[in-house]
Amino acid sequence: ATPTALMVGTGRGAQLGILIKGPEVLESTRQVDTVVLDKTGTVTSGQMQLVEVRPAGTSTRDEVLRIAGALEDASEHPIARAITAGARSELSILPTVEQFANTQGLGVSGVVDGHAVAAGRVSWMAKQWGLHLDPELGTILEAAESAGRTVVAVGWDGALRGLLIVSDTLKPTSRQAVAELKALGLRPVLLTGDNYRAARAIGAEVGIDEVVAEVLPEDKVRVVREMQESGRVVAMVGDGVNDAAALAQSDLGIAMGTGTDVAIEASDLTLVRGDLRAAVDAVRLSRRTLSTIK
Ligand code: ADP
Ligand code: MG
Repeated sequence: ATPTALMVGTGRGAQLGILIKGPEVLESTRQVDTVVLDKTGTVTSGQMQLVEVRPAGTSTRDEVLRIAGALEDASEHPIARAITAGARSELSILPTVEQFANTQGLGVSGVVDGHAVAAGRVSWMAKQWGLHLDPELGTILEAAESAGRTVVAVGWDGALRGLLIVSDTLKPTSRQAVAELKALGLRPVLLTGDNYRAARAIGAEVGIDEVVAEVLPEDKVRVVREMQESGRVVAMVGDGVNDAAALAQSDLGIAMGTGTDVAIEASDLTLVRGDLRAAVDAVRLSRRTLSTIK
C-alpha cells in the first residue's frame, strides 16, 4: 500500500468517526478474522439499573440495600453505580464503610458498624461464605441470569443476606453491527467477566454464539493470546480499564470513544461515538483502501 492511499484512508476514517493511530493500522485491520467483543459498555450501554432487591433468610430489604449501597459507593464499577443510585433513591443515609477493599472483577468488601460486609459475584461470595439460598431465591437467581441480568450477592457476618439484580440494555446498533461483521466473514466472540448464563443470553440477543464468560480481568489477555496461538488474527473491542491489556495484545485493538482513557491508549483504533457499527466501517475501509492500491 502506498503511504498516500493509507493517509487518504485514515482521513476517510476520521469522517466516519474512526480515529486511526497510524496509517499502518489499516493493514492489520484487513488481516483480522475474529472480533472479540467486551460485553459491558461495548455491546451493552453499560448504564445499569438496579431492578430488584431480594433479602435472604431473616434480613430485610432495607438492610440489604443499606449495606450494598454503602459498599458500592466506594466503587466506580457500573454495577456499583446502579446499586448506590438505587439505594440512595430509597434510603436517606448510607453508613460509612471502613477497611474498604475492591477485588477486581469479583466484588467489594469492608466493615460497617463493626460487621464484616461484602458484595459481588455470586460464585465469589459462595466461595468465601458458602451459599445457602432457599429454593425460591435460587429460582430467582437463575431466571434473572437467564434473562441476561447480573446478580450481585450481598452478605455480612459470614453469611449471604440477599441478592440484587442489575440490568443493562443492548446498544441499539449492536445487533446490526454483529450481523454485518458476520456478513464480512468475521467471527464474533463475546468476552466478559459476567456470569455464563447472562453472557449467553446477551450473546443470543445480538447473534453471537461463541461466548467466553466469568473471565477475570487479568485473564482477558490470556484468552486473546490463546486465540492468536491457534492461528486466529484477533481484533478486540473494549472500553474498560480491565480490557486494556487484551486490547494491547490483540492484532487490532479497538476502543470505544465513550470508554476509559486507558482503553483508548492501548488501542489502534477508537470508535468516537461508541457505536459498534463503526468497527464494521473500519473493516470495510481497510479492505477498500488496500484493494485499490495493490
Ligand atoms: P466486565 O467484563 O463485564 O466488564 P468485570 O470484570 O468488571 O466485568 O466484573 C465481572 C463480574 O464481577 C461482574 O459481572 C460482577 O458480577 C462482579 N463485580 C465486579 N465488580 C463488582 C462490584 N463493584 N460490585 C458487585 N459485583 C462486582
Ligand atoms: Mg466493558
